[in-house]
Amino acid sequence: MFDYSVTSLMTTNVLCMEPTALLSEIVTAMYENKYSCIIIAENNIPIGIVTERDVVHFLARSYKEEFFYNHHASDFMCTSLVAIKDDKTLFEALTISKMEKIRHLPVIGKTGAVIGVITQSNLVDAYFRVIEGATEIIEKNVEQKTKELEDANQRLRALSLEDSMMKIGNRRAMEVDLQHTHSASIRYNTEYSVALFDLDFFKKYNDYYGHPAGDALLKQVAEFLKGTVRDSDRLYRYGGEEILLLMPRTDLESAKTLAERVVQELALEKMAHEASALGYLTISGGVSCFNPPSEYPSWKEVVDKADKGLYLAKEKGRNQIGVE
Ligand code: GH3
Ligand code: MG
Ligand code: MG
Repeated sequence: MFDYSVTSLMTTNVLCMEPTALLSEIVTAMYENKYSCIIIAENNIPIGIVTERDVVHFLARSYKEEFFYNHHASDFMCTSLVAIKDDKTLFEALTISKMEKIRHLPVIGKTGAVIGVITQSNLVDAYFRVIEGATEIIEKNVEQKTKELEDANQRLRALSLEDSMMKIGNRRAMEVDLQHTHSASIRYNTEYSVALFDLDFFKKYNDYYGHPAGDALLKQVAEFLKGTVRDSDRLYRYGGEEILLLMPRTDLESAKTLAERVVQELALEKMAHEASALGYLTISGGVSCFNPPSEYPSWKEVVDKADKGLYLAKEKGRNQIGVE
């Protein structure tokens, strides 16, 4: 960061004058060219420097003398010249100007001649460049870290087993659990049931109350279901406004009874639904049971059968359970 070369910082607009230059010539050159210093050189090799300060000090000491303008540079230049070689860096320039308390640092080229001067304002500019560079690096780092975090969150979400809106199992969790329950059911010769629920006239609800209100209703229904089913049963968001209830070690009759209780109790909640004929929300469901040994090779057929039951319930007028 601090490794900018001095040649990239320095001002090359620098004037060298002979030690015999008159004070009047030096003051005129400074005034006309807005130089804050003049390098005094003999055969191009710097031997001193005259800064604004040197001029003011000299004037203060000698303005009462007659013809004081006829003094030469060699009378008032600073001869303890501190310079820097052109292969040095910003860090070295900063160090020298701080240690030596100097404001003008002549830069000496390969031949020993002055090729530029580093002023305080050059150093301030360079310092800003360093800070800007550092800020850019920090911003790039933050940007990269944020992206890494977003990627990790996305991977985490994919691995997550919970539906973020309804706070019940998601489709992935459902598939994993159904696969496990189905295998265990065959192995231990136990039955299990599933119920597939679907909100009645939910599209109309969205149309009437708006999509955000529809989302809020889905959360409310999920809360209701969590409080209604047994602890041993599991709820999953099957998709959209369809919810699957997995009931391990439950036969068809018990599953139907439980599902019907869900339908009835939800209707009793009287969640407002002005766009449906009843004026409140109802739910329909289909139930199926896997009872080994059975012809069903996988849980998918069990869910398909529940779906067919759901279709029957809708056909028969909704707000009920259907079994194929
Ligand atoms: P039916 O009684 O026949 O089930 O009627 P329905 O209007 O509920 O019909 P359908 O099941 O076809 O429509 C489901 C609607 O649910 C359509 C879709 O816009 C809405 N939906 C699905 N997922 C979401 C969700 O996450 N939020 C909201 N607000 N609406 C959803
Ligand atoms: Mg639906
Ligand atoms: Mg529906």
